[in-house]
Amino acid sequence: MKLETEKLSENEKKFRLLVKNSGDILVILDAQGLRKYISSAAERITGFTTGELDVPFCQLVHPDDIAHFQAIWDECINNPGEMFQVQYRHIHKTKGWVYFETVVQSYLNDPAINGIILNTRDITERKKTEDELLIFKETVDNSTDAIGISRPDGRHYYQNRALTELLGDVGKYPPSTTYVDEQTGDEVFNTIMAGGQWIGEIKMYSKERKVLDIYLRAYANKDAAGNITALAGIHTNITERKRDEAEREKLQAQLTQAQKMESIGRLAGGIAHDFNNMLSVILNQAELGLLKTSPDEPVYSKFKEIEKAAKRSANLTRQLLSFARKQAVTPDIINLNDLIGRMLTMLRQIIGEDIEVMWVPGKDIWPIKIDPTQIDQVLTNLCVNARHAISGTGRITIETENTVIDSCSPDQNTEIIPGDYVSLSVNDNGCGMDKETRFHLFEPFFTTKDIGKGTGLGLATVYGIVKQNNGLINVYSEPGMGTTIRIYLPKNTGQNELSPPKKPGIPATSGHETILLVEDEPMIMEIATSMLGEFGYTVIPASSPNEAIRLSREFPEDIHLLLTDVIMPEMNGRELSEKILSIRSGIKILFISGYTANVIAQHGVLNEGVHFIHKPFTMNDLAVKVREALDS
Ligand code: ADP
Ligand code: MG
Repeated sequence: MKLETEKLSENEKKFRLLVKNSGDILVILDAQGLRKYISSAAERITGFTTGELDVPFCQLVHPDDIAHFQAIWDECINNPGEMFQVQYRHIHKTKGWVYFETVVQSYLNDPAINGIILNTRDITERKKTEDELLIFKETVDNSTDAIGISRPDGRHYYQNRALTELLGDVGKYPPSTTYVDEQTGDEVFNTIMAGGQWIGEIKMYSKERKVLDIYLRAYANKDAAGNITALAGIHTNITERKRDEAEREKLQAQLTQAQKMESIGRLAGGIAHDFNNMLSVILNQAELGLLKTSPDEPVYSKFKEIEKAAKRSANLTRQLLSFARKQAVTPDIINLNDLIGRMLTMLRQIIGEDIEVMWVPGKDIWPIKIDPTQIDQVLTNLCVNARHAISGTGRITIETENTVIDSCSPDQNTEIIPGDYVSLSVNDNGCGMDKETRFHLFEPFFTTKDIGKGTGLGLATVYGIVKQNNGLINVYSEPGMGTTIRIYLPKNTGQNELSPPKKPGIPATSGHETILLVEDEPMIMEIATSMLGEFGYTVIPASSPNEAIRLSREFPEDIHLLLTDVIMPEMNGRELSEKILSIRSGIKILFISGYTANVIAQHGVLNEGVHFIHKPFTMNDLAVKVREALDS
């Protein structure tokens, strides 16, 4: 018996020691809440002596937490033996309110204890850390940057709301599900695993599987020992910004291109005025010289050479003017197939025998409205280029087709006006073009050919003509793969009566009418006067518009034709023609110019019924045009 008592007191000693040294406060209360026991840890944890703590419990607990505590207390009493946990604020002697966590358990039905055991610890520090973590988590959750965190092995761990909105659920291994280019995903992963950070633009799939442009900043998070604990990616959606930028760049490029074309046009127009005057003089003097010499005289061949050189120069300016859309045109309603059919023999001659020419006319081709000589120019230029691209034998295919262009046609890169078009394509199986060549293709004087072989004006001319006719032009070419150049010309929407083909045969070139010639350039005046004289006309020369008006008033007989320059000091040719018409109502009018000024044509397209002759002109040109105007 004694031994047992000794053993008991030994055990009790052990328990007392344990309780005394426990980090937690142990309290036993009776059913009324009166204290039966309190461990000494209470003094250390609350700063009060156990005596000071001997007050009603509600005086020690924060008033806001009392109700909660009471509820748990009641529940505990109703459920003997069950453990309940409660957190509340408790007063500390010096620190004020601190956070306690208490486990309460009722032993009221255990006769040995007959009380409620409370095991309490101070959780203020833990609570603070938890609160801080919560703030961090909420901040990340609610960030407008889309944040994702992966484990060091790349497996997905966390994504915030913004990332879910952007990419949806990113799956187990984001590089394989979210990156459009999985290789980039691996590259990002490898870079940050190697300790670097990855900053740049990438493409990712949205939750609707659309491709997004993302600005990504990714890095690996390391603990104090340098071990990687997480991989983080911060994503900013820059899709719209990129789209705007691309749009702006495209517009800028178009603007720059348009400005370049515009200034070349102005240059061409500027040169053409004076240059064509001079060329007229050279060409026409040579022609007059030829007229006055017999072919056996040695000087005859000299005049011939001058004439040839002048015609070639005239051809150059004409191409430049076509590019600048300043060449005068008189559009007709034509059937493209018929027109090309009539050109084939000539084209085959230019192309040569080694190259097969295939002609594939489209069925029921729609009529188009264009100056037929422009189709000549376009097709000749395209065929000559195709021919040059082929070494040895090869094939050129010319094809026409009705085409409906809607705004979503895939191969359109320029401004599209949806509608009905007739396409004309020239395909060759020649050397093809690289990107650089394709980029500069339509620029005047761009050529890859040797000096003397190419002028670089062929496609510039085609471009100008197509634009002048509100068409489109597309190029499909790769080095070694041949080339197809396709132009689209709008279907004629007005009345569709085909214009009668120009009368063949030799046009009438002479007459006896009286012509009022207005020209401020004396050399041109002199030549035109002698040429018209050669054809039998009577010429009244006027060196200025005002002189012309005076002469038209004073000249006692009929004047049949006003032949006038367009660009002159005092007033332009159109104004002059209106004044003269008011004096002599039946008079016919023929304009001469180095280029078409807007006063008589919009973008070079002549108004119906306006007669126009280009400088430089040959004697024959002049004779034909004068007769045409007189007979109109
Ligand atoms: P040019 O023929 O006088 O060089 P173009 O304006 O007609 O001038 O053509 C410009 C350049 O475009 C050519 O020098 C050539 O490099 C390229 N090119 C045009 N057409 C073709 C084609 N069918 N195949 C390959 N290259 C072409
Ligand atoms: Mg060419």
